[in-house]
Amino acid sequence: MKVSYLECTRCGERLSADVPRNVCPKDGGVLFARYDLAALKGKFRREDLRGRVASMWRYGEVLPELSDHEEPVTLGEGFTPMLRSREHANVWIKDEGLNPTGSFKARGMSAAVTMARHYGLKKLAVPSAGNAGGALAMYAAAAGIEAYIFMPEDVPRANRMEAEYADAHVTLVNGLISDCARMVTERKEKEGWFDVSTLKEPYRVEGKKTMGYEVAEQLDWKLPDAIIYPTGGGVGMIGMWKAFEEMEELGWIGGAGAGAKRPGFRPRMITVQAAGCAPIVKAWEGGKASSEMWTGAETFAAGLRVPKAYGDYLILDILKKSGGMAVSATDEEIFGATRQWASMEGVFAAPEGAASLVAYQKLRANGFLSAEDTVVLFNTGSAYKYLDVLEAEERKSQRRMPGARNIGGIIGPY
Ligand SMILES: [Zn+2]
Repeated sequence: MKVSYLECTRCGERLSADVPRNVCPKDGGVLFARYDLAALKGKFRREDLRGRVASMWRYGEVLPELSDHEEPVTLGEGFTPMLRSREHANVWIKDEGLNPTGSFKARGMSAAVTMARHYGLKKLAVPSAGNAGGALAMYAAAAGIEAYIFMPEDVPRANRMEAEYADAHVTLVNGLISDCARMVTERKEKEGWFDVSTLKEPYRVEGKKTMGYEVAEQLDWKLPDAIIYPTGGGVGMIGMWKAFEEMEELGWIGGAGAGAKRPGFRPRMITVQAAGCAPIVKAWEGGKASSEMWTGAETFAAGLRVPKAYGDYLILDILKKSGGMAVSATDEEIFGATRQWASMEGVFAAPEGAASLVAYQKLRANGFLSAEDTVVLFNTGSAYKYLDVLEAEERKSQRRMPGARNIGGIIGPY
């Protein structure tokens, strides 16, 4: 439906959605699109979804409205499988690897590029740890818009290639996503680029919130007790929390007898980060409301190499409100989980996604989660985007365990 206004998540300032916007002009706060959900209540019902298109655009009423002659820029993103775990009862794997360009980033870019075209923007720029850049390149190509993408030079090969094949302007940067972000900020005004960085425009969140709608719909409107989400920039978690808020306003979830066993009805939201770059975990453990820039970020899970998330204050607030948790996983644990998911579940997960399994195992071991808890683990992307990265990690793990690998000439399990 029509966006009523954009609301600053820091100061509550309301801004018109008639023109493209980045962040709150007063305090740089993240802007959320707000709708007149009270007017929609009762008119848009859960049963209306039956038989609709199997993409995130099935939730069209709670996505920004377009004019009559406009169509969304879609490549079939969303409505990904919710798989029951073969290994753990009560665990589900939401497999975002089946999205166009192989990651959940497709959802955000489908919404952001749709709105960019709606506003008549011609040049979009993004700093990316990998998958967001690839997704922007493809959606911009589909929309006939130019894309300017800044990636670390050691980005997974697939991300660089997909962006180049889509004819995006790719700049490889000797540094991290934070260095890429600085370059976009420095140059955007002069070059006439619109910045679609994570949480620096309001519509990527709108696309990603559809994961929250899908979790509810695919579990027959019974929200899980917990959701584990790998967190780099954090938009997935922020978007899902917004979706839960909206669904409550629509009367779709909550109320007596609905959903989870705990009061509040919403799932505990759990962040997992790589041990080599865990600013949210550190802030959470220190009881802080925002995070500090992580120095010396290092992990093979490229999407988790985000030393400071722009929306860190929103993520930490969600963890707190939901009774959630923040956990880290070492590269060795993540690599092991990638193999475990492939061999036990048949899911070939991106390293970021496999980190969810590590978090689940740790939280079961320490009693934070029980075997009875219904838990959704998000696999955020496909391992097919990381073949070079996985091969390099394989070589590293062989060096770590030379003895185990080759005893008396017998080739070990690795
Ligand atoms: Zn503000």
